[in-house]
Amino acid sequence: MNKATNDLSSPLAWLITGGAGFIGSHLADRLLAAGHTVLALDDLSTGRLENVAHLADDDRFELHRGDIRDNSLLDELAQRSRIIVHLAAAVGVQLIVEAPVKTIETNVLGTQVVLEAALRHRCRVLVASSSEVYGKGTKIPFAEDDDVLLGPTSRNRWAYAVSKMVDEFLALAYHRERELETICVRLFNTVGPRQTGRYGMVVPRLMSQALRGEPLTVYGDGNQSRCFCDVRDVTDAIARLATHSRSTGQVFNIGGTEEISIRDLAARVLQVTGSQSGVQLIPYDEAYAPGFEDMQRRVPDLRRIESLLGWRPSRTLDQILSGVRDGLAAAVVSSDASQAH
Ligand code: UDP
Repeated sequence: MNKATNDLSSPLAWLITGGAGFIGSHLADRLLAAGHTVLALDDLSTGRLENVAHLADDDRFELHRGDIRDNSLLDELAQRSRIIVHLAAAVGVQLIVEAPVKTIETNVLGTQVVLEAALRHRCRVLVASSSEVYGKGTKIPFAEDDDVLLGPTSRNRWAYAVSKMVDEFLALAYHRERELETICVRLFNTVGPRQTGRYGMVVPRLMSQALRGEPLTVYGDGNQSRCFCDVRDVTDAIARLATHSRSTGQVFNIGGTEEISIRDLAARVLQVTGSQSGVQLIPYDEAYAPGFEDMQRRVPDLRRIESLLGWRPSRTLDQILSGVRDGLAAAVVSSDASQAH
């Protein structure tokens, strides 16, 4: 393939790191549907084979099981790709609090390996960062060039934000200094089918608790708020930014627009499931670790992506929640059926 081609509209070979993950597998679906070829790299630590099982018979899709820090594997995959979307990371607040060494190493060293491989093979790279980098900022909404306010190094939670900031600095530096085509996206709370609550994510957790008739675990006083965005809107934004000529060398927020407190989210979950479950408030110290600091509000400023792409989320929170309910209800029924046999 001619890597020098500037034509990003024709079918291309994409490498998705974290390609069997929640977001990566939806991105693979979208790219394959548009006629592209997808190489997915995943170590299956938080990614799952079942997320991409439906793609097994598609000869434009390949799943490679391996570590993001494996230089020779990355080299081989980058050689075959035009665009890399780097999603592989240690994710979920729970995992970050429990395994800080793994978080820092995977996120920082992994990104460096990806950027070096991209440089050797002149790939375009989109690096996924996180709204965590806005830290405890109180100027709402969060815009890409705002100052950030983080907590101290004695609190593990902030290791994730810093690791993602280093990823952004690296990606932008490779662009400025080495002329690599890089783009960074800060993903806000992303939800939808295939997301598991195993790593702490609030929507699948509250939804499965409601479906099982268990109390909904709301941490802190529940007044903290988030904006949730459907994963298919997020992957649409990622795919479009990755191929847009004027996105290079920039950072973009991608997120939802409806701000909701977690207490109200729990009430909405009870409404859409018709569940009789109650709500149980759990102090942060018990939910995570002593001294845990949460973000009170997290709202994206979407002006930058909107002015470049005209992108806005297309699904409302109610549509998102109904979709998550249907997906989890089907999974609960099938696991109950398999246990009954
Ligand atoms: N949360 C909660 N109950 C849960 C899981 C999470 O109240 O069972 C809260 C969490 O403390 C945070 C919000 O929901 O305030 C979103 O958490 P999540 O881990 O989904 O994403 P975060 O915004 O923390 O990255």
